[in-house]
Amino acid sequence: MSTRQFFVGGNWKLNPTSLSKAKELVEVLNKADLDPNTEVVIGVPSLYLIPVSEAVTKKQILISAENSYYKESGAYTGEISASQLKDAGIPYVILGHSERRTIFHETSEVVALKTRAALDAGLKVILCIGETLTQREGGETAKVCEEQLAAVVKQIKESHIFVEPILTIHYSNIVIAYEPVWAIGTGKVATTAQAQETHVDVRAYLAKAVSTTVASEVRVIYGGSVNAANSGDLGAQQDIDGFLVGGASLKPEFVDIINARK
Ligand code: PGA
Repeated sequence: MSTRQFFVGGNWKLNPTSLSKAKELVEVLNKADLDPNTEVVIGVPSLYLIPVSEAVTKKQILISAENSYYKESGAYTGEISASQLKDAGIPYVILGHSERRTIFHETSEVVALKTRAALDAGLKVILCIGETLTQREGGETAKVCEEQLAAVVKQIKESHIFVEPILTIHYSNIVIAYEPVWAIGTGKVATTAQAQETHVDVRAYLAKAVSTTVASEVRVIYGGSVNAANSGDLGAQQDIDGFLVGGASLKPEFVDIINARK
């Protein structure tokens, strides 16, 4: 087992439908017996970020935004900047989720600009990557993940002095979420072998494009139909450092997923 801290993120997406329901979800986590070795982060709709972060009573649970823009301020109606999130005490942001890429047409370049801006503002980033079913069936999984990561690697190289210790610090603020698009919200979870294999490919790419230190230290988590029943086997894989959980993060079984390695 690696020294990388196990990470379980909840991605509430556009849920729940009221603040009181959001607080009920937080209450379940506040009262639960959580594995102290797991870093727990919940992705919350923008409107509820502050009240939900105030409702959390456990230091172990951190809050994440589900998106942020790459401009700091200005005429960008409807957007939220990374520095505003930082100022509001929100430590994490989810970027590049496949729903953002598909429904809201975010390109890998835009995701990379957002990642750079978030890191520059002092946020931690849950960076989502992953292939569609057609791409998997076409044998393109590694290539697609590599292309999505390459855009980010390029932005980080341009943003900071290319010196190993500095780079390592920046990458320690990124958690890579490998989420095959065909597994998100479908009940079709990747096999442990499929997930493990892609996580190894992600590290191999980072070793080549950034450094071997970053490749071995960065956390790579899996997302896509994770539930209490499959989290144990997935979480036992050497290169799976945790999960990003959608549907099941709205249910009491989220606690079992947090405790997958307990
Ligand atoms: P799911 O979603 O767990 O409902 O498949 C995962 C995600 O979109 O992050």
